[in-house]
Amino acid sequence: EGAYLYTQSGERLLDCISSWWTCLHGHCHPDVVAAIAQQAATLDHVLFAGHTHTPAVELAEGLLSAAPGFGKVFYSDNGSTAVEVALKIALHYWQNIGQPQRTRLAALEHGYHGDTFGAMAAGRGSGFFYSYSAVLPRVDILSPETPAIEAYFQEHGADVAGFLLEPLVQGAGGMRMYAPAVVDAWCAAARKSGALVLMDEVMTGFGRTGTLFAHQQLSHTPDVLCLSKGITGGMLPLSVTMTTEAVFQAFLGESFSRALAHGHSYTANPIACAAALASLRLFESGAPQRGMAAIAATHTRCLPLLCARVPGLTNPRQTGTIAAVDLPGDAVYGSTQSQAVRLACYKAGLLLRPMGKVLYFMPPYCVTSAELEQAYTTLAEILPAALTGGTDGR
Ligand code: PMP
Repeated sequence: EGAYLYTQSGERLLDCISSWWTCLHGHCHPDVVAAIAQQAATLDHVLFAGHTHTPAVELAEGLLSAAPGFGKVFYSDNGSTAVEVALKIALHYWQNIGQPQRTRLAALEHGYHGDTFGAMAAGRGSGFFYSYSAVLPRVDILSPETPAIEAYFQEHGADVAGFLLEPLVQGAGGMRMYAPAVVDAWCAAARKSGALVLMDEVMTGFGRTGTLFAHQQLSHTPDVLCLSKGITGGMLPLSVTMTTEAVFQAFLGESFSRALAHGHSYTANPIACAAALASLRLFESGAPQRGMAAIAATHTRCLPLLCARVPGLTNPRQTGTIAAVDLPGDAVYGSTQSQAVRLACYKAGLLLRPMGKVLYFMPPYCVTSAELEQAYTTLAEILPAALTGGTDGR
């Protein structure tokens, strides 16, 4: 309920990371629950080929007005697939408009885009996928530095179909944050060469960075935008890949080979769409925006205090509602240190889950400033002992 989860033994956990960045308005938000129940009793599912339905149409219209600059919405059901679709659109677009030499794809080092093969290839620079590298499709991985990116596009840009990036914050690659002007410079380099700009806002979408979408802090609107995670308020799997009208137009024509023939059994599931519509309507009330602002202000106040109280914490950083800090040492994913921190937090009533050495907060927007501030205080109490392998300090 709300920002809390309850364990089997009845203990309360503050969900400081929105259950893998999905939960926007709190768990079991009554508006979203009601929309799901109503839709489940009205139209549960229908194939999304040759058919459409009211929740899908209304959601597409809602997303198009929430994200100006786009023309069409393509549905699928998880973030990885939204990225696969974006990559397919980029490659197919150039074939359709008579530039078939544009077959290269580029993505950023430390980027993470999901667990399917195209997404893994684009996320190769995150370090998660070594075991599959022999068979991953080719994607050029660029160092996230402006001169390197400019040089790459100068040399190879004429052959590049699309440049994929997580704008402002690279999530699973370590909550790496970049200023809007920097991301704009990368987009400008790609655009200058003609390549499409594909933005993966699966994590940054729906308010996490302080604006509804991270790209709204940039001067570049992407050609293709991937959204998932928080799209349903965090209750059901759904994703979209949005494109500009110009990209969509390239897929029209008499020949079937021009069409993007990509469909899954549960594409645009009506219940998931109804949940997403209910979540989008909550933004119209202004309540999530007030929560986002309060979270951002609390991070700004509390993150420096945490670093002052716990020796060894480095690189405190914040973008909107996301705050992160590096733990001392070089812990990797699944390390004893990050597990010790996770368990100590759990015992103290906080659901926090370091990614290697990166400890971060990304709470649902219903959390109060007092609750979040208390979470920081608790963390400052338990972290020193957790980091030295001692007891939880309480
Ligand atoms: N892109 C980004 C930026 C992500 O953070 C994630 C998931 N962590 C994905 C894509 C993949 O989403 P999913 O897990 O829904 O496939």
